[in-house]
Amino acid sequence: MLMIRSLRPRLRPLIFNSSFSYSSLSSSPSSSSSSAAAVQAERTIREGPRNDWSRDEIKSVYDSPVLDLLFHGAQVHRHAHNFREVQQCTLLSVKTGGCSEDCSYCPQSSRYDTGLKAQKLMNKDAVLQAAEKAKEAGSTRFCMGAAWRDTVGRKTNFNQILEYVKEIRGMGMEVCCTLGMIEKQQAVELKKAGLTAYNHNLDTSREYYPNIITTRSYDERLETLQFVREAGINVCSGGIIGLGEAEEDRVGLLHTLATLPTHPESVPINALVAVKGTPLEDQKLTPTARVVSQFLHQRHLIAASSFLQPVEIWEMIRMIATARIVMPKAMVRLSAGRVRFNMSEQALCFLAGANSIFTGEKLLTTPNNDFDADQLMFKVLGLTPKAPSFDETSTPFEAERCEEATASSSC
Ligand code: SF4
Repeated sequence: MLMIRSLRPRLRPLIFNSSFSYSSLSSSPSSSSSSAAAVQAERTIREGPRNDWSRDEIKSVYDSPVLDLLFHGAQVHRHAHNFREVQQCTLLSVKTGGCSEDCSYCPQSSRYDTGLKAQKLMNKDAVLQAAEKAKEAGSTRFCMGAAWRDTVGRKTNFNQILEYVKEIRGMGMEVCCTLGMIEKQQAVELKKAGLTAYNHNLDTSREYYPNIITTRSYDERLETLQFVREAGINVCSGGIIGLGEAEEDRVGLLHTLATLPTHPESVPINALVAVKGTPLEDQKLTPTARVVSQFLHQRHLIAASSFLQPVEIWEMIRMIATARIVMPKAMVRLSAGRVRFNMSEQALCFLAGANSIFTGEKLLTTPNNDFDADQLMFKVLGLTPKAPSFDETSTPFEAERCEEATASSSC
């Protein structure tokens, strides 16, 4: 894998100044010899969030020497957040399996034989009990996931979800839902119920997206995000790496998110957890890396087991630090795939700018990190659990007025 990484394009040399500071950088011509990560991080700190990023700008940040990128991600992180605070979230699958969509990575799609049994929506007692348990364990955000294409025609279930949202918000937790595509009116109802955030990941770049999902379009995803934003709910949207995409697609994903009219308040960065039975069960290398691996294997330079190398920690760090620099205020969530990273590797992710993890036995249907190991990690790394935040700074919206307006389809 070291050999594969070394095939990356040559990067501009970094002249590192040990007495470096952003204030000196802004008035010094030495910035011209710094990496793109340094230059853009300095600009982010000076100007705050912006949404006029060009794809090339983000690519050059992403391609900066990884330790430099990490360092400058950390600088922006410390400027925009309390760097010791890490939010613990719990994600519960309240309606598992039987989904009509064809997301290639997902064991919950009814199109794949993954051995997962479709279940009905969990009842109120079970959901609230899980939320209580999560709160006792330190979670301040409770996310409910339902394996639905959308919420259209699911009035009874949707009303139940609204009730769960109200109750869990009443427990003093942030509440997030991921229920597939939603309509304007449903976003308004979720807002009124007290929903903090709605998750709808873009997954990957617009160009690579059709390789992963064919049953809903990229634009439909963006439309849901728009409805969420207009309803005054915080937007949670990120992606997955390790789907076979190129690095250019990772940049494309971040570019789409960073050029939305308002940045998502929450950006989950996932590493594929390949599940047997899904089309991506063996998808652990990028196409280029696979070709290189095959070449090296044929020449007996690497073992066959090298084909099975999953997403590397350095790839996660590139994503996290770039996300931090281009969307400084977002909560960058180290999400699926964390289970494969040891404490030192996770520490690098926090340093690069991640400030949230998912705790609990499972992340929807895939395994998650051990509770005790997470508690130990907080202690060893000197992290402090982040309190819930109800300071919703998303576009102000008058829910009542919009409700009237959406009834006539004109909001
Ligand atoms: S990711 Fe969501 S929408 Fe896609 S198949 Fe899985 S449950 Fe369905």
